[in-house]
Amino acid sequence: MRAAKAYAAHSASSPLVPFALQRREPLPQDVRIDILYCGVCHSDLHQARNEWNATSYPCVPGHEIVGKVAQVGSGVTKFKPGDTVAVGCMVDSCRTCPSCEDGLEQHCEHGPVFTYNSPDRHSGGMTYGGYADSIVVDEAFVLRVPEKLDLAAAAPLLCAGITTYSPLRHWRVGPGQRVGIVGLGGLGHMALKFAHAFGAEVVLFTTSPGKAEDARRLGADEIVVSKDAEAMARQASRFDFILDTVSAPHDINAYLNLLKRDGTLTLVGVPPEGLPVMPFSLIGGRRQLAGSLIGGIRETQEMLDFCGEHGIVCDIELIPVRQINEAFERLLKSDVKYRFVIDMATLGGELAGN
Ligand code: NAP
Ligand code: ZN
Ligand code: ZN
Repeated sequence: MRAAKAYAAHSASSPLVPFALQRREPLPQDVRIDILYCGVCHSDLHQARNEWNATSYPCVPGHEIVGKVAQVGSGVTKFKPGDTVAVGCMVDSCRTCPSCEDGLEQHCEHGPVFTYNSPDRHSGGMTYGGYADSIVVDEAFVLRVPEKLDLAAAAPLLCAGITTYSPLRHWRVGPGQRVGIVGLGGLGHMALKFAHAFGAEVVLFTTSPGKAEDARRLGADEIVVSKDAEAMARQASRFDFILDTVSAPHDINAYLNLLKRDGTLTLVGVPPEGLPVMPFSLIGGRRQLAGSLIGGIRETQEMLDFCGEHGIVCDIELIPVRQINEAFERLLKSDVKYRFVIDMATLGGELAGN
């Protein structure tokens, strides 16, 4: 075992504080990674505060990890010390069920091992995530970061990137389609970039009129302030596909009504409270309501390579780790442009007195 420095929540109502944990020594297939940057996903906040009622404490969040390989196990073939690598939302799965065989490890029938707050098959405890200075991960779940990408700005690709890339690909978003993105936060800003890069006509729905200018720069052709009933009415039945990234309760019927016949609204946001659906919103126009969960390892690498080829990264605010609680408060106010990323070099010295 090897000591690692981290930040953890010890209860749903307490702030994150410095925390010392142990990482396993690399097994033959393992890679030990020194973490350079870790993005701050709204899921980290939901889980640190037990909003999904499934958190074990202490909880070390973080699943948008970029770092350098520090050590490899004897059987590792894909990576060597010094390589720039990344880890996203999963660190293991059964590898043999139909979903794993299809490269959809996020739907592993035995449950994927998530990067944090998931039963750890090695330690017997729970997994600890990327708000830490190192992590040990099986090479099958380690990604390669294209060389020309800025590493801090690439970190959120590992969740915000793949979670929006995957449904836009699955529902074949492209030229000739009118696509709506709901919410301009971490996921939403990447959805704008990808939908624009895939050639669709892109409309952002936002509760924040002040984000309009940024939205255009990020790839939106049109911005609709969702609180404006008349502006919403003008969009009725005009969309082929809508991706909903909102983290809090809101009326999805208002968006279902914007779909054309046979259009699809896909949820990626996970408000802890349910989202009531009015049957007529779906029945009229034979509309479809769907969901999507991150993406498999193969598709995550495909997304990273696409970003490398097209020079796509995230718009970030780099913060020292001691500002994580303030960052959570700003996330709740939809006040981030457009993803916080923790500079893990700031973790040194934080454990004094712990
Ligand atoms: P975020 O950065 O906080 O963005 C959420 C955005 O939702 C806000 O910026 C805001 O956009 C909008 N919003 C917030 N409160 C709202 C309200 N009351 N009514 C309407 N709109 C509101 O969060 P994120 O990191 O992008 O994550 C978004 C959600 O996706 C979270 O629930 C997260 O857990 C989930 N998630 C799911 C997956 C998956 O695999 N399915 C993966 C990652 C995250 P505007 O200011 O533009 O209105
Ligand atoms: Zn996430
Ligand atoms: Zn499986």
